[in-house]
Amino acid sequence: MIDSTLVNNILNSATHTSIIVTDFYGKIIVFNKGASNLFGYTPEEARNKKLSDLTYNKEEKDACLFEEIVKRVKSEGWTDEKFIRQHKDGHVFPAISIITGLKDSSGEISGILEITQNMPNLFRLERELKNSKDFLENILESSIDAIVTTDVKGYITFVNRALKELIGQRGQQIIGKHISIYYKDGINQAREIMSRLRKFGRIRDYEFDMEIDGRIVHIRTSDTLLYDDYGEIVGTMGVFQDITDRKALSEKLFETQSELIQAVKMRALGDLVSGVVHEINNPLMASNTFLHLLEQEKWESPEQKKRFVLLKDCNARIERIVKKLKEFSRQSKFEFTSMNVNDAVMSVLAITRQQLLNHGIELKILLPEGLPLALGDINQIEQVLLNLIANAIDAMVESPDKVLIIETALGEKGQMVQIKVSDTGIGMTSEQIEQIFNPFFTTKDADEGTGLGLSISYRIIESHRGKIEVKSKQGKGTTFTIELPVYGTGTDKVRGKHNFGG
Ligand code: ADP
Ligand code: MG
Repeated sequence: MIDSTLVNNILNSATHTSIIVTDFYGKIIVFNKGASNLFGYTPEEARNKKLSDLTYNKEEKDACLFEEIVKRVKSEGWTDEKFIRQHKDGHVFPAISIITGLKDSSGEISGILEITQNMPNLFRLERELKNSKDFLENILESSIDAIVTTDVKGYITFVNRALKELIGQRGQQIIGKHISIYYKDGINQAREIMSRLRKFGRIRDYEFDMEIDGRIVHIRTSDTLLYDDYGEIVGTMGVFQDITDRKALSEKLFETQSELIQAVKMRALGDLVSGVVHEINNPLMASNTFLHLLEQEKWESPEQKKRFVLLKDCNARIERIVKKLKEFSRQSKFEFTSMNVNDAVMSVLAITRQQLLNHGIELKILLPEGLPLALGDINQIEQVLLNLIANAIDAMVESPDKVLIIETALGEKGQMVQIKVSDTGIGMTSEQIEQIFNPFFTTKDADEGTGLGLSISYRIIESHRGKIEVKSKQGKGTTFTIELPVYGTGTDKVRGKHNFGG
């Protein structure tokens, strides 16, 4: 048995550590010097008072913290607590306590022992921690890149403002969701990213698609694994950049570039062809004259006569091609005026309607009134439409459904007038589409196609500063869209007499 004076001496020599013993109801049994120093009461003042009445803040008392602590000590044997305590003079301070159960001689827990230390720095440390947390969060928040962290399983634990904006939801709606629900390829995409992360530790500039409200968003991401103090993986952090616009822009650039290349190619070809045409034209005229003279002759045999007729046909064909080539490399002047695209369509249909009927082709026309006038040479535009309709007729020869749709409209930005010619013909492969505007590209027999119709059309539309585009699906049909500048907008530079081709 230990001498109680000795125990008291030990207790009281601990002047900086508060040692308090209470029963389960909190009635103070032992209150040492250290406790007096910390809480301001003498041992006599404290004895038989309730611990929570003397040293607890009102909130802790209301929350029955003492009862909680007793419960924990009874079940676990001990607990440590960090909470705000109160001094006799009313000031409050943070303190940390280790509380254990006190066993009586029969081994039963009959009370609790609380050893408490003041933590003068705790407030300051907490404040500093909070400040640096705020600081970090501030940086993350103001980042223009979207930042997200997840736990190891992929559930979102933090998102910054940019990410909330990207997803278009508030933080509470996003936190706790699985990241893969925002990925176009869902869980497979999340697994792919995680497996790369486990392999390399980090990912740089990896591109994938998100799907947000049905909208596809192209993302470039850099990600890293997050570790705890023991080196265990606790989650991931990702920085997402929305590159949808950038990607669209570079695609557009690529398109413009190919258009430019095509335009330059056509111009060079035009120059080349006009030289060749000039060269062919002279001997052709000569041979025509001689053929004409020969025609007057008496033929000795029908065989000879037949050969002569064949020769004449060949010459006629050369003549036709040369005429087309002349159109293609045309040196003549265009008359750009204000023109009504609907009028152009109607006058071309007046010429072709019978032909369409003969081929059993149903015609649908949609020519809205009130379209702005276009700037162009109506004869040339009619030429283009004739080419397109002729091609459509050829394309539908074997189709079960033969429908030709001609439609005019105002372009998206109101600066271009469109004419669309659609057919339900054989359509084209993407390899064909790439070549159709090249001169002499044809899939037709020699006596049916020259392969010049579309290249001429292309040159005509180009000189109008317009656009000709094609969409086609094999076996389904083809749509050509011509766009011409609206008369009276900035594109009037081409107005008046315009010389092109050389
Ligand atoms: P041609 O008609 O003399 O062959 P074009 O320059 O008019 O020459 O057309 C070139 C080629 O483009 C055609 O041979 C054909 O293969 C393809 N083509 C043009 N228009 C269509 C269309 N509406 N449907 C399917 N293919 C087409
Ligand atoms: Mg043609």
